[in-house]
Amino acid sequence: MNRSLVAVLLSVALLATSSSLCSCMQSATCQHTERENIRVLIVDGFSNHDWKQTTVLVRQILEASGLFSVDVSSAPSADGPSDGETWRPPFDAYDVVIQNCNSIGDRGAWPEQVQQDLERYVSQGGGVYILHSGNNAFPQWEEYNKMIGLGWRNKNFGWAITIDNDGRLRRIPPGEGANTGHGKRIDALLTRLGEHPIHRGLPQSWRAADLEVYRYARGPAENLTVLSYAREPETGLNFPIEWVVRYGEGRIYNSTFGHVWTGASNPPAMRCVAFQTLLIRAMEWVGGREVTWPVPDNFPTDKNIQLSGENS
Ligand SMILES: [Zn+2]
Repeated sequence: MNRSLVAVLLSVALLATSSSLCSCMQSATCQHTERENIRVLIVDGFSNHDWKQTTVLVRQILEASGLFSVDVSSAPSADGPSDGETWRPPFDAYDVVIQNCNSIGDRGAWPEQVQQDLERYVSQGGGVYILHSGNNAFPQWEEYNKMIGLGWRNKNFGWAITIDNDGRLRRIPPGEGANTGHGKRIDALLTRLGEHPIHRGLPQSWRAADLEVYRYARGPAENLTVLSYAREPETGLNFPIEWVVRYGEGRIYNSTFGHVWTGASNPPAMRCVAFQTLLIRAMEWVGGREVTWPVPDNFPTDKNIQLSGENS
């Protein structure tokens, strides 16, 4: 077969592939490019935070990037209608699950069957993004604790991690230190560790808006990589802000970004350019994709935070 014929056949094959990916190639609003969107399921339904507004704002950020297709599934809460028997989100139909439930104060729980579904989904390669106080949830669920690595727990629950100023990690044993806690939210200076794909091209340090810096988050802390840390004002120690965990074949990203309290209007934690950039990049990574989202020109420096325009 001569070279020009091979080239023609290749072009035909490529055309066939792209049209099977996208049936709206002529549409100006079509956001499909070479790859299909990352399929995302936000799971919410109960929290001490404003979970409804959180879901709306996160969905807006993800959809505006053009990289994601987002669905939402709301779990039955302790004071809501009791349809726990029928609630069974189809995790396997998605590349990433965003966990936006916080059970603190007995607000709700996921049925046993749904817990097992998530365990199987992640161990077989599914991605999970733990959103803000999602790591406060489900202390009795042993496999969830393994997935998040560290969470809002009492001081006897498990290991905590601090980071020396030279970037070395120290593991604090159960019983040493304190319960998990945080002080007033601050425009925290974050410093990154290593060269994780989510952080490729970022400055070494930057400021994140209106952040809760957790002290002594606790857990089994296995198969865990700390991506960034900040100094916690009360203890003067550095604690993790972002970390990732491997669970079977799956990937989990955790951070304390994204605080939205009831009644908040245009919450700065959601307008933070660092949060928005890292949300999209982390979602690409936990979804098993190459991290392609660019670092914007207005990504914050170590001096000042950067806020995007008001949320609509
Ligand atoms: Zn919060």
